[in-house]
Amino acid sequence: MKKKVVLLGATGSIGSSTLRVLRAHSERLQLVGVAAQSNDRELAAICHEFAVPHAVLNDDASYRRARQGSGFPGTTQLSSGTQALEALAALPEADIVLIAVVGVAGLRPALAAIEAGKDIALANKELLVLGGAHVVKAAQRKGVRLLPTDSEHNAIFQCLEGHPHGQVDKLILTASGGQFRDSPVDQLATVTPEMATQHPNWSMGPKITVDSATMANKGLELIEAHWLFNLEPERLEVVIHPQSIVHSFVQFIDGSILAQLSPPSMTFAIQHSLLYPERATPVEATVDFTNPFSLDFKAPDYARYPCLQLAYDALRAGGSAPAVFNAANEVAVARFLAKELAYLEIPEVIRHCLSTTHNDPSPSLEQLLEIDAETRAQAQALKF
Ligand code: NDP
Ligand code: MG
Repeated sequence: MKKKVVLLGATGSIGSSTLRVLRAHSERLQLVGVAAQSNDRELAAICHEFAVPHAVLNDDASYRRARQGSGFPGTTQLSSGTQALEALAALPEADIVLIAVVGVAGLRPALAAIEAGKDIALANKELLVLGGAHVVKAAQRKGVRLLPTDSEHNAIFQCLEGHPHGQVDKLILTASGGQFRDSPVDQLATVTPEMATQHPNWSMGPKITVDSATMANKGLELIEAHWLFNLEPERLEVVIHPQSIVHSFVQFIDGSILAQLSPPSMTFAIQHSLLYPERATPVEATVDFTNPFSLDFKAPDYARYPCLQLAYDALRAGGSAPAVFNAANEVAVARFLAKELAYLEIPEVIRHCLSTTHNDPSPSLEQLLEIDAETRAQAQALKF
């Protein structure tokens, strides 16, 4: 029996790596639904190649353009809008939904998939940062699996298998340190969007590439790890590992450490989460020990990465603070990419929003979405 997959964010970076996995394992995995924001041509090409029966273009103008003939197959049922996205996530024939849209747009579809009893492969971290308490509770209530596709969390998931929670001392997330890891700190003021969207190890979408440079990405991943693995901030650490081959560590109470290694490509984690609990041949070359290489590790310097410190602060504060961190960061990065803000103003926007927003200790989902919207408006209006 093939596992039937819905892929939200099919035209993005994770989406295209997922398609490579699906091509290589077509005898085990079948694509039954795809979604994108506005890239109608690429989505249509995917529907042709994989004979996908259901597709959603979230953006209405793109949907209308597509209806006027941008080449979707006649056998693909195409729809538009957020409700269509939620319906796709809950598609009756689907077994697993891979959430690879960017930002909090993934939250409602994730909840819809969980309510419909689907397993979730989770690449999108922002939805857990915003709504982790609600998503985890819903998944437990429905007995569905949250399978981490983010490489660090996928590594930790693999290392934890078979070990009781009480034996875990801490999780150590690896971080590449981004593209300015070795630049003098006083030169960071001159970083441009062009510089910040080039990553030395990973090929990713623009938002996460900037987040990787500031290490806001690792901050979001700490919060993601807190929800996925139920550990307090004191037991979540970050270490810089420039080669991005060790994807994270688990340290147990007896001092033993387990790690997961693979080359820096998302196909390994995507394949693991989609095929779980099965394993199969990888789509790319594995780690090659015949050519000498080194693995280096060092502690992060918070003066270089203020966003990482702010993420720890938000995680420790709990309540609505992680949602504020996420929304402020998302807007600050968009404004930086639009050349409205300087690189070093990204942490300043987050700091300002965190320090001026009342922290609600246990917000409802609706309250979180309100806080998200209010923080976005605040971050958008901030002037320096
Ligand atoms: P990209 O920007 O490359 O792709 C985003 C995808 O989501 C595109 O297909 C886009 O469609 C679609 N999309 C965006 N908004 C919506 C929406 N509202 N409704 C439907 N579709 C939407 O992002 P990435 O692939 O880099 O990242 C996706 C997620 O995975 C993020 O949460 C990121 O943090 C996470 N992640 C990414 C990693 C990576 O290596 N890239 C690694 C680990 C996690 P369109 O093309 O039409 O705009
Ligand atoms: Mg990651």
